[in-house]
Amino acid sequence: MKIRLKPLGDVADEIMEEVRDRVRVIFHCPIEMEAGFSDLAQAYSPERKQYYSSKLLASLKKSEREERVVGVADVDLYVPRLNFVFGEADILSGTAIVSLWRLRQEYYGLAPDKALFLERATKEVVHELGHTFGLEHCPNNKCVMHFSNSLADTDLKEAHFCSACRPKIIL
Ligand SMILES: [Zn+2]
Ligand SMILES: [Zn+2]
Repeated sequence: MKIRLKPLGDVADEIMEEVRDRVRVIFHCPIEMEAGFSDLAQAYSPERKQYYSSKLLASLKKSEREERVVGVADVDLYVPRLNFVFGEADILSGTAIVSLWRLRQEYYGLAPDKALFLERATKEVVHELGHTFGLEHCPNNKCVMHFSNSLADTDLKEAHFCSACRPKIIL
């Protein structure tokens, strides 16, 4: 099994590298970084001033069967009927997408906290990857598969899988 991380649009290399290193520690499998597509305009909604998550997700291509692909975008993502999404996964295709947009303290008018931001980004990537491995949401609020309704939930949970979820990840 291999995990491929793809920046979509403009995402700082430093963020991608930090997240890659953290995700690697959790999955213990090869993680490669590969350029994603740079033009997100096809998914932009002028009315919502956000990007349609499912559209971007559908454009993510998987090149090998034995791999998972996560697109990371530094824009605000939405799906119809929800104000926004932190991320989305497609279990059938083994692909997922994560938004960094609402993970920064600055978004909420607070002082920047880079360590916290990277921690949140890692949790979101690991969570969506968990879905691509067939995991559902976990009732354990410390588990990375716990559903985050808000960032407070994200901050409460840890970046790794609980002892019930971990064995379900078959690499
Ligand atoms: Zn989820
Ligand atoms: Zn769990």
